[in-house]
Amino acid sequence: MAARSEPKAETNFVWPPVAPGDGGREPVVAPVGPASRTPGVLAKLVAQGEWAWVGSEPPAVDRLAGVRWRDAPELVCPRCAGDVGLFEADADGCPACRSRRLAWREAVRLGPYADELRECVLELKFTRRRPTGVILGRWLGEAIAARLTDHGLPPNRALIVPVPTTRRRRMARGIDHSAVLARSAACASGAAWGRLLTRRSGRPQTSVPASRRLRNVAGAFKARSARAVAGEAPAVVVVVDDVRTTGATMTAACRALRSGMRAADWACPVWSAVVGVTPARDRAKRPAGKV
Ligand SMILES: [Zn+2]
Repeated sequence: MAARSEPKAETNFVWPPVAPGDGGREPVVAPVGPASRTPGVLAKLVAQGEWAWVGSEPPAVDRLAGVRWRDAPELVCPRCAGDVGLFEADADGCPACRSRRLAWREAVRLGPYADELRECVLELKFTRRRPTGVILGRWLGEAIAARLTDHGLPPNRALIVPVPTTRRRRMARGIDHSAVLARSAACASGAAWGRLLTRRSGRPQTSVPASRRLRNVAGAFKARSARAVAGEAPAVVVVVDDVRTTGATMTAACRALRSGMRAADWACPVWSAVVGVTPARDRAKRPAGKV
């Protein structure tokens, strides 16, 4: 499966940067959405008035556009993407993850799964609001590109793989939300993307207690043939999902992918990237059934 890109629209973000007149490869251009523009105060007031007049709320992603959406890097562990204090984390992780074996090498996130970011994810999943997913995916793609660049890796050597949803759940929801995120993240970062994982049906993770989620999802994922990816082998594979709570789903997906890569003689690091990570204080008190 080769790199895919969103249809071209107004130019907003181009990756990799191309000098004028450069005859190099065609840059990937991210489409412009509502959150990429900074609306003026008057436009915001008019929009809020319109939503108030129709007795509804503006989409969550529009409300998020005006607030800070990306974490301060020094307050997030680069290995587990958990919250940390200043100087608590380094390349080997933080006190919470240093002694743990993780299925991924690096973790990228937009922020804690709370407040407006949580509303955005719920809007994408349960109201099928695709533009919200495109915007979240673009922000995630920019965060992935920034992390890759920090490591001296060209973002166009990365391959983004969505954590798949089962067919039944996709049909019921009417949207493949992780694929929307992955595709937009690839477009914004210049990476390739491909559906390299499949998922068999089973009980939703949200319907089982946190302590049983790893067992519930064990063996649920399977890697497709690596031959599905055309061209040069990627330098990094980034597995993308909307939310990480216990990490069980992401762990199972990354393990399946690594197993498929080993079978196909690939050797490259696997990273994880999610829109939101449930804060540790919320995990214990969030009952089964609540996203
Ligand atoms: Zn950590």
